[in-house]
Amino acid sequence: MLALELDIDYATRVLLDLLATPSPTGFTHKALAKVESYLLELGIVAQRTPKGALIWTLPGEKKEAKAVISHIDTLGAMVKEIKEKGRLRLSRVGGYDWASIEGAACVLHTFEGKEITATVLNTKQSTHVFGPELPKLERNDQTMELRLDAEVSSCKDVKALGVDVGNFVSFDSQPCLTETGFIKGRHLDNKASVAISLVVTKALLTADIRPSHDTHFFISNYEEVGHGAAAGIPEGTTELLCLDMAAVGEGQASDEYSVTLCVKDTSGPYDYQMNAELRDLARHSGISLKSDIYNYYGSDASAAWRAGGSYRAALIGPGVDASHAYERTHQKAIEATAKLLMAYLTSN
Ligand SMILES: [Zn+2]
Repeated sequence: MLALELDIDYATRVLLDLLATPSPTGFTHKALAKVESYLLELGIVAQRTPKGALIWTLPGEKKEAKAVISHIDTLGAMVKEIKEKGRLRLSRVGGYDWASIEGAACVLHTFEGKEITATVLNTKQSTHVFGPELPKLERNDQTMELRLDAEVSSCKDVKALGVDVGNFVSFDSQPCLTETGFIKGRHLDNKASVAISLVVTKALLTADIRPSHDTHFFISNYEEVGHGAAAGIPEGTTELLCLDMAAVGEGQASDEYSVTLCVKDTSGPYDYQMNAELRDLARHSGISLKSDIYNYYGSDASAAWRAGGSYRAALIGPGVDASHAYERTHQKAIEATAKLLMAYLTSN
């Protein structure tokens, strides 16, 4: 592997900034604008597909192009109903368990662009009021609700604030970097990978090194609902490398300090030969690479394949603990993934 400088402090800074910028699926414009501004700092003007995905291209030695995909959209919710007493019922955006957002600090975004802070609670949230009823309560769309930080006690009061059915609700990431190198926050899935795409772009430009192939970085904006990269992959692409979080937990080989090669997920196996090449690259570059299978998972590569794309495709990513809840990874996993991506882009 070429000895390129990887600025992990930059990757961490970008990641924390992206985490602090709300981007539930369908409401990603602010976070995408952030990515565009980071690219402008590097001298790159990115393009948007009609669907809103972001693409930038680094010219390479060979014209058969590689695409590197990561998604900026995250879990979130929409206002489903304004209840009589002024609380709001939610409709989930993306797949998660209701219990994972209990107590989450949120922002409601009105159609006029006003932001109202709020909290997700269940309908029997006070133990002093409901006692033994509270732990027995099943968490679902009927028993979870949003409490706005506004003096409201009726549907009319809420509507007077400009709140309406269909308003987006973003969950605060509450991002932080610990002294021990852990990065915590909601939505590390998949902003960690967007930060990795940016740090690798920066490293290649700084070292003035061309990738071996024309390389399209593709930031998708509808992954959490299953069809992110189903459209818009540039013509001439023969290979996709999807960057997305690796699932950490009991029975999984992935961990928070390594990059994982996902060999199979819900959508089936990824490209066998490409996987072998990635394993070789990791071995020769001294990168800690795990192989793993995710039982409840699909990726932008699966979406691109399902849409009829004829490319080789593989999936790598940093290990993320407690995915789709309050997540955690380590700077070591970000670095390992970025190193493997760099080795991949500069290899033949
Ligand atoms: Zn993801």
